[in-house]
Amino acid sequence: MVVVENLQKHYGDFQALTDIDLTVKRGEVVVIVGPSGSGKSTLCRSINRLETITSGSIRIDGEELPYEGKALAQLRAEVGMVFQSFNLFAHLTILENVTLGPIKVRGLSKADAEAEAMELLRRVGVDKQASKLPAQLSGGQQQRVAIARALAMQPKVMLFDEPTSALDPEMINEVLDVMVGLAKAGMTMIVVTHEMGFARKAADRVVFMADGRIVEEGTPDEFFTQPKSDRAKDFLSKLI
Ligand code: ATP
Ligand code: MG
Repeated sequence: MVVVENLQKHYGDFQALTDIDLTVKRGEVVVIVGPSGSGKSTLCRSINRLETITSGSIRIDGEELPYEGKALAQLRAEVGMVFQSFNLFAHLTILENVTLGPIKVRGLSKADAEAEAMELLRRVGVDKQASKLPAQLSGGQQQRVAIARALAMQPKVMLFDEPTSALDPEMINEVLDVMVGLAKAGMTMIVVTHEMGFARKAADRVVFMADGRIVEEGTPDEFFTQPKSDRAKDFLSKLI
């Protein structure tokens, strides 16, 4: 589904990603962990072409990622992304936030887009807020709307970059629960998170990054109970 091969990414002279090889199968949930500055966000942003890569290849469903134009817009629709900050359009209602993409990019009628959007808002538990503006919702509710908005584009894969790290503690679980539900429903997901409970519960594989490289990967059980590298042992010892 997602195949990253020999990816290198420089910011000027600084090499942010080195020799990244990562394959994510359909329906697989991969959690990426690692210390601050290890390149987790850069990798996510590269997969969505929010960053240009220096060399290497990224394919989604066998197709090389386009850099520009209509093909890129199409690709962005296939790769849903949820960030730390909610990025909802502040002047649009919750319902409008979710229907905008389907009307503009998928060409749905307003009525069809609204019917689909209400179903998604129900799924993430914020359908009662449909006519409100983002500022009238809690952070956890806004993040669930952001997930619904990404799902409305019918993505093949969902990328999450620390989706709960800007939330108050009591709102973290309501967002993680939605993500666990998505994982159980078979969505292909790449999730950067510090929530090790989520990794244990939902991940098929944990990928540990340090200094722009993938240092090791394994099942959650392998990674948490028998980390192989000193970097991973050091990282895990600081979590608790
Ligand atoms: P965190 O856990 O803090 O979010 P991260 O693993 O997501 O960290 P990245 O944001 O991918 O790390 O950054 C990786 C490295 O690339 C860091 O050293 C960072 O300073 C550098 N970097 C990121 N974005 C840029 C940029 N636009 N220009 C130059 N350097 C950058
Ligand atoms: Mg980051």
